[in-house]
Parts: sequence; structure tokens; C-alpha cells
Amino acid sequence: MKILVINCGSSSIKYQFYSLDESRILAKGIVEKIGMKGSFLKHEKESGQKVLFEGEILDHKIGIEYILGILSSAKHGCIASLDEINAVGHRVVHGGEEFSESVLITEEVIQTLEKFIELAPLHNPPNLKGIYAIKALIPDIPQVAVFDTAFHHTMPQHAFMYAIPYALYKKYGIRRYGFHGTSHRYVSNRACEILGVDPKTVKVITCHLGNGASACAVKYGESVDTSMGFTPLEGLIMGTRSGDIDMGAVSYIMDKEKIGTKSASVLFNKHSGLLGITGISSDSREIYAGAEKGDERCKLAIKMFDYRIKKYIGAYAAAMGGVDVLVFTGGIGENSATTRVGICEELGFLGIEIDKQINKESRGAEQIISKEGAKVKVMVVPTNEELMIAIDTQNIVYDKN
Ligand code: ADP
Repeated sequence: MKILVINCGSSSIKYQFYSLDESRILAKGIVEKIGMKGSFLKHEKESGQKVLFEGEILDHKIGIEYILGILSSAKHGCIASLDEINAVGHRVVHGGEEFSESVLITEEVIQTLEKFIELAPLHNPPNLKGIYAIKALIPDIPQVAVFDTAFHHTMPQHAFMYAIPYALYKKYGIRRYGFHGTSHRYVSNRACEILGVDPKTVKVITCHLGNGASACAVKYGESVDTSMGFTPLEGLIMGTRSGDIDMGAVSYIMDKEKIGTKSASVLFNKHSGLLGITGISSDSREIYAGAEKGDERCKLAIKMFDYRIKKYIGAYAAAMGGVDVLVFTGGIGENSATTRVGICEELGFLGIEIDKQINKESRGAEQIISKEGAKVKVMVVPTNEELMIAIDTQNIVYDKN
């Protein structure tokens, strides 16, 4: 069975084409700069050979036409005709309170997703564009939506509510939804698989640390709390997002700087976080390089980043009444041994102790990095949201659940 996984961003489309029965990725790639000058498609064949196509990719539909074109092309493709695609799985950021798991996309589902544009104005519109494009180009192929929010549906109400007038929750759905759910689900399950334990028997904290970052408390296989909230702005310090901040400071800045809600949103989403503190970069590698050269603000940003995560680990251990497994994933979590040390320092009282040598050698691969005999298994598990989307899509389309 061949499944095309699509992740549409505002100006990009990432894709992976799976033959799940054979555990193969037949091709993958990215369309970038949609609607801008210099748009292109970068395609990678199963052999690793890369092909670049430059062209006028004015919208998402044209981008998907390019992808379908190359997948079925005689020279660079891997299928003789588009009929060989059995299903398409889409990453959809916001599933609101409606979707607690992945769903087959029907007209009714599309209507509901249109409604959720209000909740995720930056993310859901491009996701929908991808769905519409596939519907127009290969209408007979079933499509599945896999939501970033779905895994967090198990959060209890006392964890997802904000302490604001209850009427606002009822009226506008203001509550914690959480994001990165597909990643937290994948890495928590995969960690248990590696350890040979049943997820229903352990308390796991997952830290997805990339440009966007979030932590999740996974108790007995279910998300019971997560750091991102109504939007992906809350919680950990991120590349360009502030994470937690006193709302009083927000209104104060808006008053003093005489800015409205749109500019404030740009300030806290795009100019804050690691970039805001260092004034240099949102990329952790550049910040570590700056710190090595003695840049005080880079050093401070690293400390703040690690400290915020440490606090969440403590909070989630308390929320779950303990922790058995701690998982690091995302570009920083998977690759930066220094960050993992910075976070885990002084967490020995929880049973979190890292083997410094194993940790140092662990980069981008599955690895247990805790000390032999330590109470908590600390692990690096590279995330694989695309695989999760492909599996969900196959299960739903072929009713394999
Ligand atoms: P996104 O949220 O955009 O998917 P990623 O998961 O790719 O982001 O993470 C991006 C972050 O990961 C950047 O801060 C980058 O510096 C960091 N990163 C990526 N590779 C490495 C590496 N080899 N060593 C240290 N940090 C890395």
C-alpha cells in the first residue's frame, strides 16, 4: 500500500511517499517559496539522489501538481501512474475539541476544519489548501487528517482550562489544546517499545525541542498535560517564541510601545525566544557557538532555555505522581548533548541521572542515555511524525484498527 504524506505550511509543502508494507520511503521532498520569487521543488529518490526543479509555483495546488508530476515521471518517479497512490495523509495542526483522533476526510470534516481556521489562522488554511488540491487533482483517492492536537484530547479538564471566566471557554473555546501531539505520541510509544514496557504501565515526560518546543506528560499512554496552550506560543522558550510570560507584561508592553494585537503577536511569536534574548539567532547551534566565544546573552539564553524545561519536568513529575521515562526529541533534543545535560543537572532527586559519556556520543539516533541503574530511563528518540501519519492513514483507510 502506497501512502503519500503531506505537510502544507504557509509557503512550503513537505512530502514523503511510503510503501508501508515494505517499510520503504520511496521518495521525499519539499516545495518551497510558494507564491514567491525563486520557488522550487527539491526531490529525493529512495537511492538518495536529489533533483531540483525551479519554477513558478504560485499556489499550493500547483505545488502538489509538481509533487504528483515528479512521483509519476518516467525519469525521476517511482510509480507508473497516480492510481498507485492508495491514500493521502495530511498533517493538520488544529482539530479543535471535535477531533480526538485521525479521521477520514469527508465533506463534513472539511466544513469543520474550515470552522477551525479561527483557532489556527496561520496553520489550518494551508493544511486545507493541501486537502482541496488533492481533492481536485486525484479526487478518487481517500484522504486522512492527522491532527497535532488530537493526542492531547485525554487531558483532564482541570489541566486544559484557563482560570478566566468560564463563559469565554464556552463562547470561544479558549482552553489549552496543545500541539506537537503526533510527535509526543510517536516518541512516547517508541520509547516504551525500545524499553519493552507497556505504555499503559509507565509515566513518561516527552520534550520535543526544535524551533517550536513543547513538553508533554504522558501517563499510562495518554497525554495528561502539555506546555503549549490555546496556541503554540505558551510554555517553553522557543526559537522565536517567548513561551510563558506574565499577561500583565504583555498589556504593559502594548501600552508603552503603542502597538496593537497584530504587532504584539508578531513580537511574541517571531521576535522573542532565543532570538529575542540573544539578538543574534534563533538557531541553537549559532547560540552555542556565540556562548563559546564568550557572548553573555548567548550564555543567558541557553540557561533560560534549559531552566524552563527543567521546571516543566518537575511540574509534570508532580502532576503524574512520578516519572519513569524522560524522552528528548526534535532537532535540539536529538542532537544537543549539552542541552540535555543542562536540563538534567540537579534532577537526581527525581532519579534522573545521565551517563555523560553515552550522552555525549548520542546524536540523532535512538539511545538510552541514563546511568545504569538510574530510576528514570532517559532517552533520545528521533521523532517521526510522517511515519505516524502514514500508519494512521493506512489504518483508517483499510480499517485495520
Ligand atoms: P522544527 O521545529 O522547525 O522542525 P527542528 O526540529 O529541525 O525544528 O529543530 C531545529 C533546531 O535544532 C535548531 O535550533 C537547530 O540549531 C537544532 N539542531 C539541529 N541540528 C542540530 C545539531 N546537529 N546540533 C545541535 N542542534 C541542532
